Amino acid sequence: MIKFKDDLIRHEFYRLDKRLMAVIYLIGGFARQEFKKDITITCAYRGDSGTHKDWRAVDMRTRNLSSEEGDKLVAFVNDHIDYGDGKHFVIKDERLPGSSQNWTAPHIHVQVPPRDEVKLRA
Ligand SMILES: [Zn+2]
Repeated sequence: MIKFKDDLIRHEFYRLDKRLMAVIYLIGGFARQEFKKDITITCAYRGDSGTHKDWRAVDMRTRNLSSEEGDKLVAFVNDHIDYGDGKHFVIKDERLPGSSQNWTAPHIHVQVPPRDEVKLRA
């Protein structure tokens, strides 16, 4: 199940790039099947970030996942979703303090590229 930090984010979810929505459903299914846990979207639209401003990125809470579960989730996405040109950038792992500029809390950032390049890996 996909949960939302608040109702605003729940509404924003339906405005996201549809490719990103599909990736989120995939991640939610993986977390439910493998860990019997839900994922929570903590940020969708944000005006100060290019990808969030473009409706192409969300942040997911990770404090309900063990570090092993978080590692498995990141590996699953990177093993099965191709960001384009074979890159592994669908997920930006920001679980550790200082892992990005303006880091505030542990999370995983998921984004899709500007062009239509998201593919499932064989
Ligand atoms: Zn983000």
